[in-house]
Amino acid sequence: MSEDRVKQLDEVFCSSCGKIIKKEAEICPLCGVRQKPAPVLGSLPLDYGADPLSGKSKVAAGLLGILLGGLGAHKFYMGKTGMGILYLVFCWTLVPAILGLFEGIIYLTESDVAFENRFHSSSNAITQESKDNP
Ligand SMILES: [Zn+2]
Repeated sequence: MSEDRVKQLDEVFCSSCGKIIKKEAEICPLCGVRQKPAPVLGSLPLDYGADPLSGKSKVAAGLLGILLGGLGAHKFYMGKTGMGILYLVFCWTLVPAILGLFEGIIYLTESDVAFENRFHSSSNAITQESKDNP
């Protein structure tokens, strides 16, 4: 009667023979069929530093702005190459260094959503998209 036992949390049904196997099993030990990766919807790590949408870390951008802001490093990091070149051209004035220092502090203190919106200057409501999954 062991085949009728209730599926445990760390177990899944084999995609081929339907028997209960371990979730970690890549290949069913009963029929030898390779399993598809389990869906991980809703378990995305949202707090791993880098933003899931832009792939940019506001901590890295902030530190670059504070340490290398005079060279536009944080602008290059965030993909704003034009601004980065502008900072680089005027680095001798030390103005970019001051701006970078302030921008770096802002990056570090603002919310993840506010930082993410810097990559979407249009009015797209990027924070709503993830809630509209069909
Ligand atoms: Zn199987």
